[in-house]
This record gives sequence, C-alpha cells and structure tokens, in this order.
Amino acid sequence: MRRQVYVKNIPIGGDAPISVQSMCNTDTCDVDATLKQLHEFHEAGCDIARLAVPNQAAADAFAQIRKSSPLPLVADIHFDYKLALSVIRGGADKVRINPGNIGSKERVREVALAAKAAGIPIRIGVNSGSIEKDIIERDGHPTPEGMAESAFRHIEMLEDNGFSDIVISLKASDVKLTVDSYRLMSQKCDYPLHVGVTEAGTRYSGLIKSSAGIGALLLDGIGDTIRYSLTANPVEEVTAGIALLKALGLRKGAKLISCPTCGRTKIDLIPIATEMEKRLANVDKDITVAVMGCIVNGPGEAKHADIGIAGGDKKAALFRKGEIIRTIPQEEIVTELMKEIEQL
Ligand code: SF4
Repeated sequence: MRRQVYVKNIPIGGDAPISVQSMCNTDTCDVDATLKQLHEFHEAGCDIARLAVPNQAAADAFAQIRKSSPLPLVADIHFDYKLALSVIRGGADKVRINPGNIGSKERVREVALAAKAAGIPIRIGVNSGSIEKDIIERDGHPTPEGMAESAFRHIEMLEDNGFSDIVISLKASDVKLTVDSYRLMSQKCDYPLHVGVTEAGTRYSGLIKSSAGIGALLLDGIGDTIRYSLTANPVEEVTAGIALLKALGLRKGAKLISCPTCGRTKIDLIPIATEMEKRLANVDKDITVAVMGCIVNGPGEAKHADIGIAGGDKKAALFRKGEIIRTIPQEEIVTELMKEIEQL
C-alpha cells in the first residue's frame, strides 16, 4: 500500500478514496475572484485546489485567501525557495515545488524543515519538459526511466533532510509516456501518486487524453489523487474527474447510462439525457439511471438500472429494474425521473 499524507483534512494515498483536484486560473493576487472560483470548485465537489504563486504579492494574497478558502490549498511554486517559505508561513496545506530547481542544499533544507514543522506535504511535479538536461542528452528524448530518475533526484534531496511527506507526479502531454512513467514509478516507490496528463488540450481533446491516461492508470490501481488538465473553465476539470471516478466505480454517486439513439428513436432523447446528466451530478445516491430511446430494446438493455425511461412516440415508459411502471409524456420525463430518484 502507498504511504499516506494529509492535505489539511484530505488524505492522499494509503486506503484513502481518490481525491479530485483542480487549479484556479484567476490571478492569485485578485483575492475576491480566486475565492469565488474556489467556491465554484467546492460546489462542484473538488477536494483540493492549487493556486499559482509566481511572486511575493501572490504569496501574500495566498495567505489571505487561505483564511477563507472552502478547500485545502496547494501553492504552486517554481524556483524561488523564499516564496515556498512565505506560503508555508501563510498556511499552505501543501506545496508543489521541485527541490532540484531551488538552488543550494541549504535552501532545500530550509524548505524541507519548514514544511515538516508545519506538518504539510510537498509534491514533486516532474514534467516531461522539465527533465534535467543530462538525462535528456543521455536518452535523446523524455522516457519513463528518465522521468522516474528525475523524480528520484528530487526525492533524495528531501529524504536527505528527513522529509518523506512526499507526493509525486510524472506528467507528460503524451498519454503513453505519462502512463508508462507512472507504471514504472509505482513499482519503484511507495509515495502517493498525483496522476494527470499535462497540457492535455482543449475541452474535447483534453477530456479524451486525460480520460485515456488517468483511466488506464486507475484501472491498474495506480493513482491516489487526480487532476484533469483542460484548456477550459477549470470547474470542468472537477466535474470530469468526478465523472471518471464514478465511471470506474471508484466513487459513489448517481450514474447515467443512455443509448446512442438509432432509427427506432421517436423522442428527442439527446436534450433529455444531457439535462439528466447535469441534474445527476449532485445526486449522492449510488444508483444507475437509464435514458433509452425505444421500448423494444430500452428496458431490456438497461435491466440493471435502478430507474429509467424508454422512449415511445413523444412519450416514454418509466421502468424500474427492467419492469415498466407507467407511461409519461415527453415534456415530463426529466421531472418525473427526478421525483422517482428522490424516492429511491
Ligand atoms: Fe436504438 Fe432502442 Fe438501442 Fe436506443 S435502445 S439504440 S433507440 S435500439
């Protein structure tokens, strides 16, 4: 089993449920806008949020935001150890920083000791683009072995200072490289793994690449906390992460199944399924809801669903576990389904 660390009240690793993360895209110095987005993350079901801290003004704002944040906060820092020390003083629940990038051993030691005293973990975030020059020159291009070696260089710097509350990520924008790197790393160490495909792309391609990479790893039992990386509203990273966990049976909650529609479909199924998906996002009951296009195959194909509808001509049959209970008009499908779900 992986080691466990805590990001405030959220455990990562060990037997903890897989947590979902996102990163604010507001200017960290804009405290109100950042807090607003953090509340949106929280409402969407996010577990942990990260903020960029590129300078001292952002570190000061981070401390202010931390006081009213509805979520545990990770400070994302590159190169400047003073910023790391500043956000730790300001109440950061975790810091993402690569010790190899902050200079002398003394600086690494200062950050490790400060994080230890504050009782917070550090994430080492290796990216395919940040692998050390000598490794790239040796291998010719980023490889899983090179990613892992880079991670171990950073890990050793923290371990040399008696620090082991470490989380590792090994992200690449190439799905296969990402998956192979995490697979290798999961065999080589027992630190918890933050899993994601970096710079995955826009909403459409980013969802596909992230789901392929994170999904493959989660099915292997690899991954303790996840982040979708989308060039889109970051709230969607949260909803996507939760949807993936539900789809893989790793998080409880309502699941929607819907048929692809075909020539037998006589109701306007697509908007109904889309609306149901939205409404089910906040339903915690561990149920399966089916939205099927026809009475001939619908109830049978969705026999395992707890509740569902099968479309007829501008109406639908409401069924429970494959048994039809009653018929409802097309306009009332969503309302009736939600009423039934409340009663389940
Ligand atoms: Fe076609 Fe009916 Fe299957 Fe939907 S459930 S794809 S409408 S056969």
